[in-house]
Amino acid sequence: TTYVYDFAKGNRDMKDLLGGKGANLAEMTNLGLPVPPGFTITTEACRQYLAEGTEPDGLAEEVDAHLAALERTMGRALGDAGDPLLVSVRSGAAFSMPGMMETVLNVGLTDSSVAGLAASTGNERFAWDSYRRLIQMFGKTVCGVPGEAFDRALDDAEREHGAAQETALDAAALRALVTTFKKIFKDHTGQDFPQDPREQLRLAIHAVFDSWNAERAILYRRQERIPADLGTAVNVVAMVFGNLGDDSGTGVAFTRDPGTGQRGIYGDYLQNAQGEDVVAGIRNTVPLQDLERIDRGSYDELMRAMSTLEDHYKDLCDIEFTVERGKLWMLQTRVGKRTAAAAFVIATQLVDEGVIDLDEALCRVTGKQLAQLMFPNFGAGGSDRPVARGVAASPGAAVGKVVFSAERAVELAGEGEDVILVRRETNPDDLPGMIAARGVLTSRGGKTSHAAVVARGMGKTCVCGADALEVDVRRGQFTVDGRVVREGDVVSIDGATGDIYLGAVPVEPSPVVQYFEGEIGPDSGVLVRAVHRILSHADSLRALGVRTNADTGPDAARARRFGAQGVGLCRTEHMFLGERRALVERLILAQDEAGRKAALEELLPLQRDDFVEILREMDGLPVTVRLIDPPLHEFLPDLEKLAVSVAVAEATGKEPGRDGELLAAVHRMHEQNPMLGLRGVRLGLVVPGLFDMQVRAVAEAARLLKRDGGDPRPEIMVPLVGTVQELEIVRAAAEKTIAEVDPGVDVSIGTMIELPRAAMTAGQIATAAEFFSFGTNDLTQLTWGFSRDDVEGSFFPRYLEHGIFGVSPFESIDPDGVGRLVRIAAEEGRKARPDLHLGVCGEHGGDPESVHFFASVPLDYVSCSPFRVPVARLEAGRAAV
Ligand code: ADP
Ligand code: MG
Ligand code: MG
Repeated sequence: TTYVYDFAKGNRDMKDLLGGKGANLAEMTNLGLPVPPGFTITTEACRQYLAEGTEPDGLAEEVDAHLAALERTMGRALGDAGDPLLVSVRSGAAFSMPGMMETVLNVGLTDSSVAGLAASTGNERFAWDSYRRLIQMFGKTVCGVPGEAFDRALDDAEREHGAAQETALDAAALRALVTTFKKIFKDHTGQDFPQDPREQLRLAIHAVFDSWNAERAILYRRQERIPADLGTAVNVVAMVFGNLGDDSGTGVAFTRDPGTGQRGIYGDYLQNAQGEDVVAGIRNTVPLQDLERIDRGSYDELMRAMSTLEDHYKDLCDIEFTVERGKLWMLQTRVGKRTAAAAFVIATQLVDEGVIDLDEALCRVTGKQLAQLMFPNFGAGGSDRPVARGVAASPGAAVGKVVFSAERAVELAGEGEDVILVRRETNPDDLPGMIAARGVLTSRGGKTSHAAVVARGMGKTCVCGADALEVDVRRGQFTVDGRVVREGDVVSIDGATGDIYLGAVPVEPSPVVQYFEGEIGPDSGVLVRAVHRILSHADSLRALGVRTNADTGPDAARARRFGAQGVGLCRTEHMFLGERRALVERLILAQDEAGRKAALEELLPLQRDDFVEILREMDGLPVTVRLIDPPLHEFLPDLEKLAVSVAVAEATGKEPGRDGELLAAVHRMHEQNPMLGLRGVRLGLVVPGLFDMQVRAVAEAARLLKRDGGDPRPEIMVPLVGTVQELEIVRAAAEKTIAEVDPGVDVSIGTMIELPRAAMTAGQIATAAEFFSFGTNDLTQLTWGFSRDDVEGSFFPRYLEHGIFGVSPFESIDPDGVGRLVRIAAEEGRKARPDLHLGVCGEHGGDPESVHFFASVPLDYVSCSPFRVPVARLEAGRAAV
């Protein structure tokens, strides 16, 4: 194996082996750009070093040979006493991990070579400054000396010399500082600062290898889902000096504006400085344009280099460069990170410039970026100081008056006020309040708490789990940071960051959503135009349909505007809440057939109206109605509340009445594991008339719409089926009911696949189902055997820490386990019934990674919340490129 590559030998396709930095340094070298000579030690060497704890055999010899070649090219020897060559030793992994790993500059300086550097550059101050930087960086990164020790000594020196900043320290002061730094080094390591340049180089290389496993690097990889076993490459680069005087300097540049995508010259420049000074923000930089005035020659050359890079990479590049006494050196480039808006704008600009085609443009943007563009934001106003921070649960920027109950939220919103619903945590009873509110703020719960899941589903801004908030609902106030916030006080919450502000921070609506809503046309500005073009292209390519989960007419209508091709999941249980709860209670408490029938008959027209509304909004498109799914006792009042009210009644000698009956019912229906109990299809088989009423409501709604000339396309979906027999019974009854209502209405009947047994017997189930919809939330719960409502606060954080999964399987589908069940069921289902229609309606339907998985199965469609519809369209298009 070869462990070391000269820059002239590599290229940009060798990122895995040379890291991004090394591969691009090689690419620039081969493009003829002015890159200081150097070589790259491969990630393979790093992997072996990390596995064995020692350098792989032969690495030392290869490094020696390449160093010798470098010395010949430069005409100088590393650490030479007369005219020293210095090098930087730089980390660089295959995936960019900005600032996560280590780099050591000025390697090769010693007590003797520092004099040579001073002599050869004629700049004593510069030589001592470089030496003290080396001891500082080397001490910190190679030997673990605490950085504060050096910082303190530097502060002391500045104070002693009355210097406002380090640039004001003269050669003598810096020389004295070097003595102090060497003492600090010895105090902490027990050793003298190494005076052998080769030894310095060897140790610095090891330190860069080791920095792959620095704590922050591990954390960053986990967050960004970068595999843990790739290792980093090490780049050894001849030093060039931006700190030789005012004719020198260092800077960063972008070939386009990474904030907006606009073409132009963007970047920062700092005279008389070394690279890391720009990033560290030690001194104020000047805009890159000023370089034209400072050093016309270097500026022109930089402009040429930038256009060479753009032409070559066909994308926005970012660049690190240094000017040494009027000569430009390129130190790094990569295809640059950019904001979501810039990603769309740049991709379409490049199409217009004839550089890439639309397929490529589509690949250069992501659903995640599109989602970001859909949230309103605080714009520049968000620079106020937040008073607390919670979990960024559902993005968006919301400003409003604080309320502490769903009723007040509805009331005030009805009067036209913007409100923020603040609760310790939310429950299904808060739903109307959540709908009415601009945003939801809780002091408890994580990313999958009720508040978070529901808010995300609605596209509502939510910050949850802000435990700095002391929420006292009874007194109608919360305290934070010693301040009391009462009902009616204004707060602002940022669901993208989790920041909470007291008072109103100005909000800007998202133009992209205005465009989806049809409020503005596709020609409204560069960003909207870019989104329109790319999304239209995605639609033209994709085979995967996109439907929406919607329980109300307005939701369905919005989703349709957002491009939904039908409703993939209409949850009927939401129609049993609010004032209809009383009817459900009557149904449950009914003593006899007649009582039950009466309750159902009252529910029927209400359900029918719900369906009419949704079917009308989705006229001509399929609407999948799921029959009632949750255990019925979820519709009864809370056990504790009932027990208290019954106890109070008894103590005061009153009849407990209805509450007594309800309490008895709650006791009777109690289940140890309600999620595994009497729910889904089991309800339909046990509670006479319940499913029948729902089927009848669907059929009647369809008949009404048809009579008015509409084109309703309802589908009935039976939940939680585990065996074909269950489905056959429900199906027979449903067909009979539909025929009774109107033999002419066409309603297809299918099932959710959400039990592992259903997936494993899909071939049988398909004989009774015209469609499957994968309920991946339950399928995930039941395949892994953990409850979605409980894991978040208990063992998930530890699992993520251990890297057992990089992301919760409730967020992105687990392809190997749950995904395998989906594949098996799809394949066997289609074998039994070739025209079986297949979709997915779990939360995963709007998750970008999962969309790619479902496209690969392939399913016919995904269904997701209205706000995720455009995201799913985009990702389905990307999956088809
Ligand atoms: P990071 O990946 O954190 O940006 P780098 O390896 O790019 O770390 O180096 C840190 C800084 O040092 C950068 O500003 C870079 O431009 C500068 N630098 C690195 N190598 C050299 C060199 N050979 N000569 C001059 N400056 C250098
Ligand atoms: Mg860099
Ligand atoms: Mg389910």
